[in-house]
Amino acid sequence: MGIINLLFHENFSLATHNTLGLDIRARYFCSAENLQDLSEVLAFARDGKLEILVLGGGSNVVFSGDFDGLVLRIDFQGMEFDDQKVVVGAGVNWHRLVQHSLERELFGLENLSLIPGLAGAAPIQNIGAYGQELDGVFVALAATDLSTGEELVLTRSDCHFGYRNSIFKGELKDRVAITQITLQLSSDFLPILEYQELVNELERRKIDLPTALDISDAVVAIRKHKLPDPSVVGNAGSFYKNPELSSQTLANLRHSCPNVPSHKTEQGLHKVPAAWLIEQAGMKGESVGDALVSTQHALVIVNKGNARCHDVLALAAKIEQQVQSQFGVLLEMEPVLY
Ligand SMILES: Cc1cc2nc3c(=O)[nH]c(=O)nc-3n(C[C@H](O)[C@H](O)[C@H](O)COP(=O)(O)OP(=O)(O)OC[C@H]3O[C@@H](n4cnc5c(N)ncnc54)[C@H](O)[C@@H]3O)c2cc1C
Repeated sequence: MGIINLLFHENFSLATHNTLGLDIRARYFCSAENLQDLSEVLAFARDGKLEILVLGGGSNVVFSGDFDGLVLRIDFQGMEFDDQKVVVGAGVNWHRLVQHSLERELFGLENLSLIPGLAGAAPIQNIGAYGQELDGVFVALAATDLSTGEELVLTRSDCHFGYRNSIFKGELKDRVAITQITLQLSSDFLPILEYQELVNELERRKIDLPTALDISDAVVAIRKHKLPDPSVVGNAGSFYKNPELSSQTLANLRHSCPNVPSHKTEQGLHKVPAAWLIEQAGMKGESVGDALVSTQHALVIVNKGNARCHDVLALAAKIEQQVQSQFGVLLEMEPVLY
């Protein structure tokens, strides 16, 4: 290996690097700001035979314990706008990108306002909110293969985007570091008002013909009201995906539980709110140690202060068992478990 310029922290606490605030340790931790840094990191990991975990803002991860490898924080900066396209460094804060785009009157990200985390993580679960998903504006990304160091370009179709899903949760899970993403925004604004909650908020503000900024402001207000703020109380946002049921499964469920809410997807499945199932299963306010099912929103597990990994996982197991036995529905965790 050549000269090492990077700082590799040993036995590093990740407490401030995951929004759940789990106080676990990484054997090594470092940040990479550019491709040169990244190649040093890969050489260091190769020499030490270390497993690499790529981390962004830590807002969608749950740890089951200490990480006996190298945690790599991606810190690539920069936003380059070219007409209606933008190339964004993976380390750019997502909401800052949304705000910059709005300032330039480029649209397509407004419903995704205030989602925590970094731009490079957005493709991992194809972030979505209030009727908009990343894949609607996504063009391509650049990534580095963690074992070979090869630089790759993946287009939209390569990424196999789905509901809170992509190739990076399957075949390419933990195998690449995304370094930049390219999005196609639009100077024509088409409001997406599929969510009643958003429509209600705009009505409350007496806005009939919303601008993109109005939508962004309304989304920010709803989110601030609805979700616990991770900078105040540790959490990883929605802990479960909303289950998508076949018509037959929904019909069976409606036999015993006629008032189950559901929303038909483009694929003809029926999305049932996981929060509703958890609440009906009597789990809102349930806790294990300092891990608590938020009383504000049943889909969120919060850390009351000193929750340990196994408190969070034991609480999750309880929720899953209860929902399964009451409704016969299997919940799938949304954050990535390490
Ligand atoms: C309060 C709250 C609200 C949320 N609301 C939403 C929402 O409305 N919609 C939604 O979709 N999500 C939501 N989330 C989840 C989360 O914000 C997103 O998934 C976000 O994209 C995660 O970004 P991050 O940088 O924090 O990723 P991290 O948590 O750091 O990482 C998540 C996963 O991505 C991988 N990863 C991260 N960066 C890279 C990279 N550069 N290259 C390769 N792999 C990488 C990690 O290895 C890990 O597997 C919410 C979370 C919180 C705490």
